Amino acid sequence: MIYSILLFGLDIVVGYTGQVSLGHAGLFGIGAYTTGVLLTKLGLSFWLAVPFSIFITAFFGAILAMPALKVSGPYLAMVTLAFGTIIQILINEMTFVTEGPMGIKLNKPEIFNIKLNEEQFYWLVCLFLALSLIVVHRILKSQLGRAFEALRGSPVASDCMGVSVYRYKVYAFVISAGLAGLAGSLYAYSEQYISPNTYNFELTVLFLLAIIMGGRKTRSGAIIGATIIVLLPKLLDDIELFQWISTLLAICICLSAAIAVVKKWTSLQSTLTPVIGTVCLSLFSFQLESMTDWRLSIFGLMILFVVYYLQDGIVGFVLKLSSYTKRSDESISEQHHSSQSTNLQTLGHAQPSDSSAGKLILDASSILMQFGGLKAINQVDLKVQQGHIHGLIGPNGSGKSTMMNVLTGIYTPTQGQIKFKDASIIGQTSSSIALSGIARTFQNVQLFGDMTVLQNVLVGLHHSFKSNFLDVCLNSKRYQLEDHNANEQAKSLLNFVGLGGLGNELARNLPYGKQRLLEIARALALDPELLLLDEPAAGLTAPDIVELTQIIKKIRDHGITLILIEHHMDLVMSICDTVSVLDFGQKIAEGKPLQVQSDPKVVEAYLGGSSPAVA
Ligand code: ADP
Ligand code: MG
Repeated sequence: MIYSILLFGLDIVVGYTGQVSLGHAGLFGIGAYTTGVLLTKLGLSFWLAVPFSIFITAFFGAILAMPALKVSGPYLAMVTLAFGTIIQILINEMTFVTEGPMGIKLNKPEIFNIKLNEEQFYWLVCLFLALSLIVVHRILKSQLGRAFEALRGSPVASDCMGVSVYRYKVYAFVISAGLAGLAGSLYAYSEQYISPNTYNFELTVLFLLAIIMGGRKTRSGAIIGATIIVLLPKLLDDIELFQWISTLLAICICLSAAIAVVKKWTSLQSTLTPVIGTVCLSLFSFQLESMTDWRLSIFGLMILFVVYYLQDGIVGFVLKLSSYTKRSDESISEQHHSSQSTNLQTLGHAQPSDSSAGKLILDASSILMQFGGLKAINQVDLKVQQGHIHGLIGPNGSGKSTMMNVLTGIYTPTQGQIKFKDASIIGQTSSSIALSGIARTFQNVQLFGDMTVLQNVLVGLHHSFKSNFLDVCLNSKRYQLEDHNANEQAKSLLNFVGLGGLGNELARNLPYGKQRLLEIARALALDPELLLLDEPAAGLTAPDIVELTQIIKKIRDHGITLILIEHHMDLVMSICDTVSVLDFGQKIAEGKPLQVQSDPKVVEAYLGGSSPAVA
């Protein structure tokens, strides 16, 4: 149960935000030692030692998050590993507080003047497990959990939806470390003796293995994983038990393989290796006379097996099986819902008004964006009038997407000024620019693929949540109300773009055209005043483009200003109020669509070289 509490936390970092942490054994050690030291040196009670352990470990979690903000993947693994090692060395060396290699002895806690015995302590840990389960579950299904998942799906898109990657990575590590601190504290009480070499590299690897074996992103996976890592050493010690379990495993695998092949879920070849593997393991176990020489090899084989066949862990595997059994022949394409013309009461502060006509909402002047020697944008002015659809066109590589990245803070321009609603946005982060009212879509779709369609839009609605960590943990009235409103709003946005019936599909399963519409719905969730669309019609079929045109018009009618990058000239010419043309990073023309279309410079840029101007 103690390991489960830690694994709930580790799963937030590994499963949800997708960061690797090899520092969790170190955090576990900090939790245990905080309790040990507070108890022996200061004589603090259980009710103080546990919260202190949580807070102090959470603080170290924030420190561990620092490298995660700069590096990722294998580099992050290295840095967190170094963190764990340093913690272990410090515990060893700081003899004046930690007693060094001697370790610290402590007693079971005393609660309300009753000194708990083994059994009472067991139930106390049970209680903490249940509490952690509730808290973690609530966090992960709230806007916080969605933010963690979003930054794994697409960090750039999270930032552009106002969900600061920076902040939520730190949150994830802090919450995760807090749980490691609680687990460490309970562990100290449980073992009644702590020493530095417990919190070593093997323990860290074991934790990661438990998450992978049990299954990421599920609480049941964490509990199963914890059970396995606790029971595995016992299993590998007892030869008879090992024979039993391996035979049972072989029977289970053979049966499920047989069912899978008969029902045609999978081919015979792909089931051969696991079947032969488990049968051989079972036969081999009866040949063994002693386990000691084989323990590590068997352990290694099991890891290989899990990594190869159970990438989503045991829980993931079971879920997949059950989804096969209930899969009806409905497919996404049949659930096609045509665009219902739902009105958006939800799009708040942008109002269609004539009085604002002629007012500039965005004023970018003399923008220079240089990558090394390449001037991707060279002294470009872009003035966008409120309420307009402003087209931005030009051949491939002319700097359109770069302009959009500059406007949304992904790149800081080498030179130039950008004013949005009269305030400069140069130097601001993408997330604060997004929150100030600029939303966007991406040329290469950036959805949160592992989240449902509805959740994708809910990430866009992140800004509408004012409830804090405590509200979420206590499931307060305020949080419930906000959650309810956000869900309603997300559904109405999905109806608006014609994805009403697909809310529960995973975003990555949507057909391409629908993914583009979902990106628009998510961007609208930000309640923007300026919406930037980067080639929304790319890859869409003709009927889809008609639908898209209607949606863009409706968005404009709600008073939202748009910048539209597009190659489909019919679309651009039919709906844009103004068009700017870029070529090799320079603005070569600007004006009404018809005027621009017949401009010889534009024709030349598109047709290339010396072709005569044909409009
Ligand atoms: P468009 O969207 O108009 O097709 P882009 O804005 O994507 O064009 O690209 C304009 C130019 O800037 C291209 O030559 C591209 O290679 C270059 N570019 C864009 N982003 C970067 C970057 N991060 N580093 C270096 N060059 C870049
Ligand atoms: Mg582009």
